[in-house]
Amino acid sequence: EWLRSMSHDGNPKYRYELQKEIQTHKIEQNLKYFSSKPHIAGSSQEEDVLANYIYTTWKSSLNGAKIYNYTVLLSYPNSTDPNYVAIVSSDGTESDISDKVEKILSPDQNDSTVVNPFNAYSPSGVIVGDPVYVNYGAVEDFHYLTRNLSMNLNGTVAIARYGKIFRGDKVKNGQTFGCAGMILYSDPADYVAGDLDRVFPHDWWLPGTGAQRGTVFNTDGDPLTPFYPAIESAFSLDEKDISNLPLIPVTPIGYNDAQKYLSKMAGIEAPSAWKGKLNLMYRVGPGFESPFEERKLKLYVKSYNVKKTIRNVIGFIEGKYEPDRYVVLGNHRDAWVFGAIDPSSGTAAMMELSRSMARMLEKGWRPRRSILFCSWGAEEYGLIGSTEWVEEMGKVLGPRTVAYLNVDLSLAGNSTLRALATPILHKLLFEAAKTVENPNPDEVKAGRKTVFDTWVANLPSSHDPTIPRVGDLGSGSDYSSFLQILGISSADVRYTYDQKYSLSSYPMYHSVYETMDLVSRIMDRGFKYHQAVARLWGEMALRLSDDVIVTLDCVQYATTMQRIVSDVEKTYGPLLQKKGITFDTVKEAANKFEAATHALQNRAENANKQNPLEVRKINDQLMLLERAFIDPLGVAGNLYYRHVIYAPNQHNLYAASSFPGLAAAMFDIEHDLNQELRWQQVQKEISILAYTINSAASTMQDHG
Ligand code: GLU
Ligand code: CA
Ligand code: ZN
Ligand code: ZN
Repeated sequence: EWLRSMSHDGNPKYRYELQKEIQTHKIEQNLKYFSSKPHIAGSSQEEDVLANYIYTTWKSSLNGAKIYNYTVLLSYPNSTDPNYVAIVSSDGTESDISDKVEKILSPDQNDSTVVNPFNAYSPSGVIVGDPVYVNYGAVEDFHYLTRNLSMNLNGTVAIARYGKIFRGDKVKNGQTFGCAGMILYSDPADYVAGDLDRVFPHDWWLPGTGAQRGTVFNTDGDPLTPFYPAIESAFSLDEKDISNLPLIPVTPIGYNDAQKYLSKMAGIEAPSAWKGKLNLMYRVGPGFESPFEERKLKLYVKSYNVKKTIRNVIGFIEGKYEPDRYVVLGNHRDAWVFGAIDPSSGTAAMMELSRSMARMLEKGWRPRRSILFCSWGAEEYGLIGSTEWVEEMGKVLGPRTVAYLNVDLSLAGNSTLRALATPILHKLLFEAAKTVENPNPDEVKAGRKTVFDTWVANLPSSHDPTIPRVGDLGSGSDYSSFLQILGISSADVRYTYDQKYSLSSYPMYHSVYETMDLVSRIMDRGFKYHQAVARLWGEMALRLSDDVIVTLDCVQYATTMQRIVSDVEKTYGPLLQKKGITFDTVKEAANKFEAATHALQNRAENANKQNPLEVRKINDQLMLLERAFIDPLGVAGNLYYRHVIYAPNQHNLYAASSFPGLAAAMFDIEHDLNQELRWQQVQKEISILAYTINSAASTMQDHG
């Protein structure tokens, strides 16, 4: 009897019941609670009130809960000596001073614990210099200024617009090219797609008084304890020995303030791709135009770094037959201000999902494998909570985790689902999305009944229009350390806005205006989109935890791998050929890998489910396949990112790069003065790829 019950896939009845249990009004109540006050990492609202609320809830309703504390380096603006930007004349007189606080537009934003706009980990300092406009602050933008325009940026104050790439990369670039400081502003071109006089509170577009907070730290985890957990016994660096912290002061401003500086700039007209939507002539500088040519731009930053204790809360449901196999679900809890979208829309969904699973536990359901709920602290500062936990628990998680499913925010918009995942999880995403009712009644009327239907209609794969496009995982949220340090297959899902708006993110991102009012009045009236995300998340979790053979699609990994190989050949082939370098070893490895995935899939499909040893063997091979892509020496020597197939782009943390080591070796190679060394690196990367893919193929063999 025991053997028979353990060899059955989870009862679909429970999946149906779980989805039915997930209720919009409960999610709404959750969001109201979590976004009622600012809850920045390290604050008492965040680490005491909210963390304890989650702990108590899970402790009493799931099979257990635990709090993990870490003492880590955080950063705050000085509340009595705020950061600002101004134009300064030679006698020191300041004019055009930027807003020191974000203007309150309705009473619900008014709270004494709101933290003013700042960029975490900016050093403090007062910088006076000539302004230069650097567009998005991407490497290409700096190359344009220094190569095409032969500008010398030493000592300048860069004005960069937010968007396209991770802000930390903008700052790193500014620093590399000699800028003394940087101002980050949100241009309406990237954050307002509607009418400039119909911004929030009328509509969801960013008003000119809004500023985007955010970290400018360039790697993951506590800056003081790289690669080891920041627990009591940890060795902690001296602040001066930390690498990857920015060395130039930086602060964010809104577009009303940016207008004052950009409209007075001297220099040639910016190229058309650099022009934003402010009503002015975009010029690159350096300096201000007549009659302001004697004046400089001043950047005043008094932020400080300080050690604080942050918390993760982990709740668990114990698996019935395989309690030592974990399906891990995570969302961060900390917000820059009220965080009604980022991350509390995700927290509200997670709490409703955990409540619904608790209801099913009461009804007698037990998953086959264990399910873990994770509420992460200090994500906004650099994925600190999740990374410290991966560092502390990695030896347990690595061999036992089936997959990590992340929801940062439930929705950046209400147009379609957007998913990022490693290829092995694509199939699960599709199958789960087909079971979730479409939250949009107009879409249902148009015949698109499920989340999948709208998804595939809006974002079809460029290779196959019958399936949706799934993006690759770069970094920027809590899946990063699971994937990049441990090699755990991961996914990240949310609803998003219509891609016809070429927005860089949802407009109110990291501003004081991300409130319950914004979500409940404009973005998700009725909370149907939140509900759809919670249902999808739950459906995926249930299938991964309950099916006898896990739904991990190794064949899709091979298909994607072949595509990457042919894309890479197209991009670099001619250049490689000229150097007499072939890509054949990687191609052979990819073929071997593909054959191995078919063999493993065959065994999975024909497995004797009555044989627990066979079942576990196949599941372990599927579960551990992703681990084989981890290079302990890091990609291109960067120990923070170790996945040889996908890693964050070296110039944009948010974006993924496929075959990232090779991409890094090839980037801008023609400008490298040491050609011989660079081409050696290319050859080394090709050999690492061939080795790693072959190794991954071997792990799928039956035995021997
Ligand atoms: N999600 C945060 C942001 O985009 C943190 C990203 C990171 O440090 O990786 O600002
Ligand atoms: Ca650490
Ligand atoms: Zn977030
Ligand atoms: Zn965020």
